[in-house]
Amino acid sequence: MSRIKQAIRGALLMEFSSAFILAVKYFFSPKVTINYPFEKGPISPRFRGEHALRRYPSGEERCIACKLCEAICPAQAITIEAEPRPDGSRRTTIYDIDMVKCIYCGLCQEACPVDAIVEGPNYEFATETREELYYNKEKLLANGDRWEHQIAKNLALDAPYR
Ligand code: SF4
Ligand code: SF4
Repeated sequence: MSRIKQAIRGALLMEFSSAFILAVKYFFSPKVTINYPFEKGPISPRFRGEHALRRYPSGEERCIACKLCEAICPAQAITIEAEPRPDGSRRTTIYDIDMVKCIYCGLCQEACPVDAIVEGPNYEFATETREELYYNKEKLLANGDRWEHQIAKNLALDAPYR
């Protein structure tokens, strides 16, 4: 009986028809994929991407060299050296992050009392060499300058939950 059924289904091209109908249905339904990198999906304000050091609107560095981020980093990826400026303020002379060691836990950002070190929204920073992932202060400040608008927006969105 099942062989007869199978033969009838085959003669009527039923398998082909059902597959064709399914294909047409998905052709006209909304796409679940995006055309990355030309299209990008939304990311959470809490997304922990590439690190950045922020400045105040005056251009002054936020970081006060308290070294809390260095102390809390479980991967020991942060290296800071600091000395006082002539005006008595304390600032870093070296602020390095070894992004190869970093596990993107976000603890440095949580520990920072002045929102200086943050993990920004950028996730497109793959490199071809390890050396390019050894970030220094200039690189981190440049990241801050580049992403400040989005970082400030994300911090404001997350503020009610902190
Ligand atoms: S995200 Fe975590 S592992 Fe990476 S530098 Fe910050 S504290 Fe260290
Ligand atoms: S980034 Fe923040 S936690 Fe780290 S040394 Fe500077 S002020 Fe302190």
